Amino acid sequence: MLSDLSWDSYVLPAEALLWRADVERVSGLRVRLLRDDEMSGAEGEAWSEPGLRAVVLAGSVPAPSDAMTIVHELGHLKLETEGWPHCYLCHEDPRWIEWHYALISDLVSLIEHQSFFPSMLRMGLDPFSASEADLADADVLDELRNLAPSLPLPGLKPDWAITMQLLRALLECRPQIAEMILREAAQLGPEVRMARALTVIIRAAPLTPQGFTAAMRDCWRAMGFADDTLSIGEEEGVAPTGLDSLAVGG
Ligand SMILES: [Zn+2]
Repeated sequence: MLSDLSWDSYVLPAEALLWRADVERVSGLRVRLLRDDEMSGAEGEAWSEPGLRAVVLAGSVPAPSDAMTIVHELGHLKLETEGWPHCYLCHEDPRWIEWHYALISDLVSLIEHQSFFPSMLRMGLDPFSASEADLADADVLDELRNLAPSLPLPGLKPDWAITMQLLRALLECRPQIAEMILREAAQLGPEVRMARALTVIIRAAPLTPQGFTAAMRDCWRAMGFADDTLSIGEEEGVAPTGLDSLAVGG
């Protein structure tokens, strides 16, 4: 169930308040602060739909990380305000879109984070340490260890969920932690190679809407998907029938 929260309950850095003001000025909408006690798998989400801008916190009770999550999601909304496009998957088979939804959503988020994580550091928040804590979680490492022996033969497509975990490690952890995580995953050859290749593409991209678009296209191609399965920059709300639109990020 969704419930409205008051912005007054949170002390946020001045720069984050400016992000919120920018989103409100450009969209003409008040950014709502919501809690969704049924959301799982993320600490929060940024929602941007016609007539709605919202920062959504997951869980039923306040968490110490709430302020960090709010600033993080405001970061995603701010980028959209600055012209960062939405991405859509295009495929005749709706199941294909469903299967690849988490993949493209992760990829969009990881590229967007490159642009606003440094600002969060300036505000005294450390989004990288949150990523490290998530990824250094014993469950994630166990998952990588347990999966390694059961992997298919080389030459098959990488497992995208694992690839995104490794990509997050490379982009959002200190180098020594990232390398420790990749060592745990050493037997995951295709996933490790793919994550490293995507990291090079993303790190080289300018932190602009155009850089984001180019990085998305280049990553998509590097992953072996057809260009026409990815659509970038449609006006919100006018995605043709059969196309899935994405939340701004998580
Ligand atoms: Zn995010």
